[in-house]
Amino acid sequence: MSSQTTTDRDRSSEEPILSIQDLRTVFYTDKEVIRAVDGISFDIHPGETVGIVGESGSGKSVTARSIMGLVDSPGRIENGRIEFRGENLVGKSQKQWRKIRGNGIAMVFQDPLTSLNPVYTVGNQIKEALRLHQGLSGQAATEEAISLLEAVGIPDAGRRVREYPHQFSGGMRQRAVIAMALACDPELLICDEPTTALDVTIQAQILELLNELQEERDLAIMFITHDMGVIAEIADRVNVMYAGEIIETASAVDLFGTPKHPYTQGLLRSIPGSHEQGERLWTIEGDVPTPNEEPTYCRFAPRCPKAFDECERVHPVSVPVEDGAQDHTTACLLYPEDRSETEAVALHESRSTTGGDTE
Ligand code: SF4
Repeated sequence: MSSQTTTDRDRSSEEPILSIQDLRTVFYTDKEVIRAVDGISFDIHPGETVGIVGESGSGKSVTARSIMGLVDSPGRIENGRIEFRGENLVGKSQKQWRKIRGNGIAMVFQDPLTSLNPVYTVGNQIKEALRLHQGLSGQAATEEAISLLEAVGIPDAGRRVREYPHQFSGGMRQRAVIAMALACDPELLICDEPTTALDVTIQAQILELLNELQEERDLAIMFITHDMGVIAEIADRVNVMYAGEIIETASAVDLFGTPKHPYTQGLLRSIPGSHEQGERLWTIEGDVPTPNEEPTYCRFAPRCPKAFDECERVHPVSVPVEDGAQDHTTACLLYPEDRSETEAVALHESRSTTGGDTE
């Protein structure tokens, strides 16, 4: 989490660097149509870390790939807008999208070996990124590659720059990948489970590094993970995804302090260490369903301990958790909580059919 949280830095007056509006990314297979990302909206501001959290199959990585223009056939973006610096990226050609990927948005994947080529030195790979994106070559590129390796905390960078990926440890490789991403001088860094393959100590170091880089460069970070503990460490705001939808959005403080959606409550109760001694670790029974039809009901209903009859009939849309609470929204028929159940259900029903958004 950056040192200035959403509460002490007013972002409402700032233009978001990224604005996602009603994005739907669909995969067409022989058997079914999978709505992997199904009508999500959120913003990211400069200097802010927005966490995207959910189980596998929730749509987190497809969201990232949609933003990067990396959705492969049989998938395609079917609806919505992805505005980066105010410009809509949906509908751009692959060539235009490549340019944006190099000059504004960079991505760090879970496995650093997917980004590093084993037959080139780490330095040459960073220099290639510097040549492509900043036009640097020769000695200037070498010096910048060394300074980027130093910036990501690699000791003895002058020597390391000539080494190959297999000579780096797992944590060092991920640092090198972050250095490569920084070579594009991005304003938005998308991190897809970047610490999942690392042990806890190295994970903490990488999170600390991202925090430092963010402060130095006013980087916006979108951080994808299934790990609520990691989200607590790094995020200013959090979007919780379930079966292609965002089912709760709040500042990290509010989300962890007063989670509202039954799914978020379940996720938090299933964090190891969040229990009294001797109490059993809570689990959410069942799996995330494949979102293969238009939602006319709550996709979480089969697993929800609070489900009631209407949950099978009405699709919950994102609403404030209580009237007027714009910064904390959830897609559950129990909200806004200051309305009666009947009134709340009627609100969702009217919004669902008219395609409305939060109040
Ligand atoms: S809408 Fe119903 S099933 Fe869905 S989360 Fe809320 S209470 Fe549970």
